[in-house]
Amino acid sequence: FQLSKALVILLCLNIVVHTKQAQLQPWSPLDAPKEILQMLSRDPVTISLASTDFGHIIHQNPFAIFAPSSINDISKLIKFSNSLPIPFTIAARGQGHSVNGQSMTNDGIVVNMTELNNELRNNGNGIVVFDKYVDVGGGQRWIDVLHASLEKGLTPLSWTDYLYLSVGGTLSNAGISGQTFRFGPQISNVHELDVVTGKGDLVTCSTEKNSELFYAVLGGLGQFGIITRARIALGPAPKRVKWLRLLYNDFSAFSGDQEHLISLNGIDETNAPNYVEGFLLLNQPPLDLSFFPEIDQPRITSLVTQYGIIYIVELAKYYDENSQDHVDQEIEILLQGLKFVPTFKFEKDVSYEEFLDRVHTDELTLRAQGLWNIPHPWLDLFVPGSRMSEFNEGVLKGIILKQNITAGLVIVYPMNRTKWDDKMSAVTPNEEIFYVVDFLRATGFDNLEAYKSQNQQILQFCKDVGIEIKHYLPLNRTHEEWVEQYGLKWNAFEKRKNQFDPNKILSPGQGIFN
Ligand code: FAD
Repeated sequence: FQLSKALVILLCLNIVVHTKQAQLQPWSPLDAPKEILQMLSRDPVTISLASTDFGHIIHQNPFAIFAPSSINDISKLIKFSNSLPIPFTIAARGQGHSVNGQSMTNDGIVVNMTELNNELRNNGNGIVVFDKYVDVGGGQRWIDVLHASLEKGLTPLSWTDYLYLSVGGTLSNAGISGQTFRFGPQISNVHELDVVTGKGDLVTCSTEKNSELFYAVLGGLGQFGIITRARIALGPAPKRVKWLRLLYNDFSAFSGDQEHLISLNGIDETNAPNYVEGFLLLNQPPLDLSFFPEIDQPRITSLVTQYGIIYIVELAKYYDENSQDHVDQEIEILLQGLKFVPTFKFEKDVSYEEFLDRVHTDELTLRAQGLWNIPHPWLDLFVPGSRMSEFNEGVLKGIILKQNITAGLVIVYPMNRTKWDDKMSAVTPNEEIFYVVDFLRATGFDNLEAYKSQNQQILQFCKDVGIEIKHYLPLNRTHEEWVEQYGLKWNAFEKRKNQFDPNKILSPGQGIFN
């Protein structure tokens, strides 16, 4: 009797648990209005494409993929989610070029922003170029924005190194490259946005109109709304570019010259460079010297072997055909007094488009070698300028150069905080000059753990010596780490989340509120 009583109790408990689970089922697709259902796909191939990204490290299966045919559809989807007792999560996906699952959702819905593009393009309004700005759908790629603008002799001013990224994706981070010191990041070049908020409201915003949402969304890691249109500043497009690389064997000469070059902006516009970046050549295979003339490659290799680490300043000067003579003089003036290793100055003369689209050339090579769709354990940091020499000793020489794994491409260049708007969500170190340091690695699965561990060592080194770095393209973090990342901005960030996405539906892959 005791046994059967126990069994009855267990059975009852089981029913209660199951009923609870049924109540907790977040939603059923059958609950969705027909118009939404029609746009959802559970096709395994489509699901599998949306369950990975450029990083090839994180995999999350969404419940379905949403292919909106209008901005209103996105609004309806978000409103439907909010109407449920337990809303489902929604991740906008641009080009899926994040490296750590940022555009994914587990069991939620991925919104394919490219689909919206196709629709907008068919209607002829995906990219509309005006005299001083271009109106662009949030899922459009920068390469297409460039092409459309160039047709009218115009160009956006601030770029990323790689252009096959979506406008909404880079504006959710910041969008940085060698032009940032002149024009600020891409988020500093936006006049107006259309955003579907986490409540499903379609809002037009700018510094004057609904400014809280405007500032929240720019650099907001997709947390507050889905960008469906951005109005981006344009200027006259140059025709050609002198593209230079200067080699240094000494870090302080390298960074001193980089900082000098970016300081020319605003003082001497004619003689200031249009683009300044930098990266390392390390005495590790493979040594990519493809930029340099073949005849010079042996002496560059000897330099790298001798010093172990060579720093390269990369700069560009734009010009038009009729100013060919001037540009050579301007470059001569620009290089006066710079401390690169004498005679280690290399120059190419390319079209403006070829220069901006330079990484695509590398992409094609890597794809052909089967080295594009492989894991990318990247680490992207902003480092305060005053601590860069310690960072060089402790991380670049102390960790990267010494360890037995290939560093990949290490990008190092300074930018200035005054070109960033602190009201926006993006975060930078609290110093006027800070450096972006990108460790861009590609690896097989065998070495993945070694890279993850190296990333941890770099972060630990910064912590131990008190270098207050900020993450760019931040990796999924603990709550404490997010609070630290945002620092004084955390309270405002959290408040904005409660205001614009109170049910915490959007971009769960960032791992901030989910
Ligand atoms: P996704 O990966 O699709 O999405 C990124 C995040 O933004 C997700 O959280 C997503 O939900 C959200 N999101 C996407 N679309 C929208 C939208 N319309 N509205 C709101 N939220 C949205 N970055 C630089 O700044 N400078 C560089 O030079 C640079 N070079 C790169 C080179 C390569 C080869 C790669 C792979 C990346 C590079 N990046 C660079 C990083 C890149 O800017 C980010 O990864 C960016 O998010 C990629 O855009 P995406 O369209 O692929 O975004």
